[in-house]
Amino acid sequence: LFIAFEGGDGAGKSTQVALLREAFETAGRTVTVTRQPGGTPLGREIRDLVLHGAHVAPRAEALLFAADKAHHVDQLIRPSLEHGEVVLTDRYTDSAVAYQGAGRDLGAQEIHDLNMWAVDGLVPDLTVVVDVSAEEGRRRRGDVHDRLEAEQDTFHEAIRAHYLAMAQGNPERYVIVDGTLSAEAIHAQVVERLRTMGAL
Ligand code: C5P
Repeated sequence: LFIAFEGGDGAGKSTQVALLREAFETAGRTVTVTRQPGGTPLGREIRDLVLHGAHVAPRAEALLFAADKAHHVDQLIRPSLEHGEVVLTDRYTDSAVAYQGAGRDLGAQEIHDLNMWAVDGLVPDLTVVVDVSAEEGRRRRGDVHDRLEAEQDTFHEAIRAHYLAMAQGNPERYVIVDGTLSAEAIHAQVVERLRTMGAL
């Protein structure tokens, strides 16, 4: 079972990943928790290069993040799934489609195709979109440290709109949760959806 959490910066994805890990472990499942970018040693180097280094050209950024995903899926996600584990990832290919495709204007379809190639077609069973406004996300992040987090609200609003459009276009594979609710309330909605799917 493969579940991705998506949403803007400061939406509360990592809190949800931690709560869901507990729920699956209580149910007796083995859980692998990971993140993109940075789920492998190579990925952490890529993450550092792109987020904390000097300016990276938009197409180079898209390719570096795609390389992180290719390696991550091959080295960690696919093997864990093959062992019957639950894999929870904080961001996956939709981050690239939203950030590089919509946010950076590189073309959502092209970035989608590039990423599907990178991950060799591995699609999550469920993607949870934790939705908050750009303004709320900025407020929650407080001090901005990453190069990308320092982008303007318009960049983050474009990303949010794209996430919502992807999720609304494919309700079978996505659930949208209101990120302004309490962590427990959001978690309850995710659990309910997984129960409906017979996955928890
Ligand atoms: O969520 P996390 O803090 O790990 O994300 C790191 C940064 O990378 C965030 O600022 C996010 O906006 C950015 N990112 C991106 N494109 C991706 C994935 C993440 O710009 N494909």
